Amino acid sequence: MKTFDVITPIKALDFDELSIQEQNLVEIARDATYRSYAPYSHFRVGAAILLSNGEVVTGANQENAAYPSGTCAERSACFYAHAQYPDARFLKIAIAARGTDGEFVTEPAAPCGACRQALLEYETLAGAPVEILLAGRDKVYRLESVRSTLPLAFDSF
Ligand SMILES: [Zn+2]
Repeated sequence: MKTFDVITPIKALDFDELSIQEQNLVEIARDATYRSYAPYSHFRVGAAILLSNGEVVTGANQENAAYPSGTCAERSACFYAHAQYPDARFLKIAIAARGTDGEFVTEPAAPCGACRQALLEYETLAGAPVEILLAGRDKVYRLESVRSTLPLAFDSF
């Protein structure tokens, strides 16, 4: 028997350590939280995807009285991005969240498993790592790829 470790490198940065482009993407994701529809969880998430054509597409969680019918910010953003710009590659995604108190969360919120799987599809299409920025109130986690968040991912065979 062999064992092996799967490592997910995460860089924790102060907001002002981000590039201007990254700061802008985080701010756009934060703005998107205000377009969340979250009457049930009151947890408001925004996502902003930078595409290879220079466009930034946003999403926000959209809840539904029939809970499984709603969707997360990340999936609303990635499906909309690919539906609008099918020829553009995903470059980066920033994700921000506000808690039930309405304030931006201190600890960055990470995408759920379903969103990681959905984002992986577009990273695979892009043919290159899609950087993830998880924005807390004062710090940002930078992850090098979607795949790094999804060890032993299910992929197309
Ligand atoms: Zn999700």
